[in-house]
Amino acid sequence: MLLILYRENLRMSWPDSAELLAPIVPWFTAVCRELPWRAQDLDRLHPDPYAVLVSEQMLQQTQVSTVIPYFQRWMNRYPDLGSLAIASSDEIHKSWEGLGYYRRVRNLQSAAQAIVQHNWPRDLKGLMQLPGLGPYTAAAVASIAFQLPEPALDGNAFRVLARILGIASDPKKAGNELRTWLKPALQTHGPSRMTQAVMELGAMVCGSNPKCSECPLAVGCQAHRQGVVQSIPMRATRIKPTEVELWLLAVQFQHHWLVRPPTEKGLLAGLWSWPTLAVETTDDLAAENPHPYGLIHWRSWPSWTQIYSHRREKVQPLALEMAASFECAGCVWEDENSLQALAMGRRDQQLREQLSTSPSKKAEAPPIAGLLNRLIAGS
Ligand code: SF4
Repeated sequence: MLLILYRENLRMSWPDSAELLAPIVPWFTAVCRELPWRAQDLDRLHPDPYAVLVSEQMLQQTQVSTVIPYFQRWMNRYPDLGSLAIASSDEIHKSWEGLGYYRRVRNLQSAAQAIVQHNWPRDLKGLMQLPGLGPYTAAAVASIAFQLPEPALDGNAFRVLARILGIASDPKKAGNELRTWLKPALQTHGPSRMTQAVMELGAMVCGSNPKCSECPLAVGCQAHRQGVVQSIPMRATRIKPTEVELWLLAVQFQHHWLVRPPTEKGLLAGLWSWPTLAVETTDDLAAENPHPYGLIHWRSWPSWTQIYSHRREKVQPLALEMAASFECAGCVWEDENSLQALAMGRRDQQLREQLSTSPSKKAEAPPIAGLLNRLIAGS
């Protein structure tokens, strides 16, 4: 009961959304970027809801400038739901290569298959039942593709709303109240237009360094008026990422490379990868004799740090050319002609690209025998 009262009070203290946000409508009309997935007429149903779905999946965690060429290539390759629904897993992962967060591409295909089978859902609830469509993506598709007044709150929108309403606490905790508050603005100014205008303002004006002097909402913005723009929104505490150090191994034998085929689950699901081994101080260099394994020569390149959302990998790349092949659990020998066509994540792509570059000249000798021992033993 107390919580309901608190929420009612919270909303009652906020001014009418349609009125407060009205100035961004002419602003958006003037500055609106031409994007390949954006409809010309924002008052009508979008001519291609599939394009909206693709763009929303690509835009999660990824900047517009990065997404544009991927979107264009994608739409050429998979122009409609049907062509995506029947594509192979390898094909779609290869087309997504470099965009990261590969779960999105698998969800996109699963959603396409569901829509081909059952048609587009008619409301937000139905959209949220499609694979990979959480409250934000479902509402974005509902409003931008289908003109349904369902407020879509991404990071940009939360930031803008927190500032104009002067919300000092974490705005995500007031998500339901904000959606209820925003709805009349969508109904008055058009769901597609208002949704995209708020996001555009967050992307172009009200970012981490807000340009309040250029902002159409400056007069009514609480954070600006109270001089607390920099402290809103409240920063969420970040989870400390796990740190690991590993060898990334490209092992070659007679025009074949040792690689791991895609798995269905895990960080690199759907992707090919090079074998990895944890860097261990117990790898004894002095006691090493790699020649029984038929080592012809080795190459290495400078290490780098690969950053994932909750994990940081210090990567030691190493290429080994062998005179004999061997069995390695979970690995296969792939013909070198097909290596470029394999869908790989960023870390593994980087080593694939390094193979055709000059190695480090003064690299320290790596503990090759120990690594091969562990690789063959599957540890
Ligand atoms: S006035 Fe400044 S803080 Fe307020 S919405 Fe505009 S850019 Fe953001």
